[in-house]
Amino acid sequence: MTRSRHAEIAGAGFAGLASAIALRQRGWTARVHESNPELRAFGAGIFIWDNGLHVLDSLGAYRDVLDGAFACTGYETRTDGVTRSFEPVNSPGSLRLLTMTRQHLYQAMLSAARRVGVELVTSSEAIGATPEGELLLADGSRLKADLVIGADGVKSKVRDSLQLPMERKAYQDGLIRVLTDRGPLKGGEWDRVIDFWATRERTLRILYTPCGENTLYMAMMAPLNDPAANAIPVDPEIWSAAFPALRPVLTTLADRGRYDLYEKTVLKTWSSGKVAIVGDSAHAMPPTLAQGAGCAIMNALGLAVATEETDTVEEALALWQRRERPLTDHTQSRAAELAASRSLASGMAWDDVGLRAARHLPTGTVAEFSAA
Ligand SMILES: Cc1cc2nc3c(=O)[nH]c(=O)nc-3n(C[C@H](O)[C@H](O)[C@H](O)COP(=O)(O)OP(=O)(O)OC[C@H]3O[C@@H](n4cnc5c(N)ncnc54)[C@H](O)[C@@H]3O)c2cc1C
Repeated sequence: MTRSRHAEIAGAGFAGLASAIALRQRGWTARVHESNPELRAFGAGIFIWDNGLHVLDSLGAYRDVLDGAFACTGYETRTDGVTRSFEPVNSPGSLRLLTMTRQHLYQAMLSAARRVGVELVTSSEAIGATPEGELLLADGSRLKADLVIGADGVKSKVRDSLQLPMERKAYQDGLIRVLTDRGPLKGGEWDRVIDFWATRERTLRILYTPCGENTLYMAMMAPLNDPAANAIPVDPEIWSAAFPALRPVLTTLADRGRYDLYEKTVLKTWSSGKVAIVGDSAHAMPPTLAQGAGCAIMNALGLAVATEETDTVEEALALWQRRERPLTDHTQSRAAELAASRSLASGMAWDDVGLRAARHLPTGTVAEFSAA
C-alpha cells in the first residue's frame, strides 16, 4: 500500500486553507500552522468574483458562502456625483460577484477544511523552510513533508528564508476598511456596489459595498499624503463633505477601521525544491480589481490539481507555475496600473483586460455550480 503524501502549510489564511482542503480532497494529509492563537479573519468585507466562487464550489465551501453573502444588483462608478459606468451583475447572463464579511468567507472555508480532516495548529509560527521539504517552526521543530507551502501572507517568513528574488512596490494610496450597519441605506440603488470618487477639492474614494441584509463594508481610499483623511478614528466631516449621501453611515464609524497601503510583490519564481509559495506571499497586489484572494485560492487549487497530473512534486510545481502564473501576472500588473493611475475614477471598463480573472474558469472547477 502506498502512503499518502503529506503537506506542511504555513498560514491559515485563504491561501493556506484552500491549499490544505484541495490537497486533502486528493488524498494528501495536510497540516496548517497559524501563528495567531485564534483562527479568524479581521473585520472587513471582501468581493469574490465568479472565478473565486467556482473555486469555493470545488473546495466544498460554496453553499456555506452563499448562505449569508450579498448578491448586489449592479456595480456603479459615480465620480463627483455623476455615474461614469454601470454594469448589472448577478443577473442571468452577467458576471457573478458576491460580497460578504471576511469572517463569513473564512468560516465557510474553515468548516470545509474541518469536514475533510485538515489538521489545524494555532500559535504555531513558521520561521522558514528548506528546499528539501522541511518547514521550520519558531519552537525549533523541523517538520518533514512531501510538499511545504508558504501561505504566510505578504510578509512571508517562509518565502524570505528561501531568498527568492523579489520585487516589491508600494503605491500612493491606502484604504481604510470598515464594517458598519447599513442604517437607512437599503433597497434600490443602495443594493448596488457603488464606487464613489471625489476628485475636486480632495481625492477620496469610498467603495460602498453591502455585505448582507444589515452589514455594510466601506473601503475608503485616502492618499498617503493626506493624513487627516487616512486617520482613524475616521473624521466624518472630511468624508461627508466629499460624499454627502453617505453621511448617515459615516457618522457611525467612531474608531473602527484599519488602514493598509496598496502593495505589490512579484517573485521571480513561486517555488524552490519542494516548497511552494502561494497567495499574497507570492503575488500581493493592489486591491483595485478585488482579485488578491480570488487568485490566491485559484492558485491553491491549481497546485493540488497539478500534483495529480505529475509523478513528482517538483514536476507538479513546474506545471503549476506554467499553467497558473500568466493569469495572476496579468491581473497583478493590471491592478497595479489602476492603482498608479487612479483611472477607476473614470469608470470600470468591464473589458477582458480588467476582468480576465473574473471570467476565467479555474483549473479544477466545472462551469455548473453544485448549488444554485
Ligand atoms: C485593502 C484591501 C482590500 C482587499 N480586497 C479584496 C477583495 O475584495 N477581494 C479579493 O479577492 N482580495 C482582496 N484583497 C486581497 C486579499 O485580502 C488577499 O489577497 C488575501 O487575504 C491573501 O490571502 P493569503 O492567505 O495569501 O494571506 P493572508 O490573508 O495574509 O493570510 C496569511 C495567514 O498567515 C498567517 N501567518 C503570517 N505569518 C505567519 C507565520 N510566520 N507562521 C504561521 N502563520 C503565519 C497570518 O496570521 C494569516 O492568517 C484585498 C487586500 C487589501 C489590502
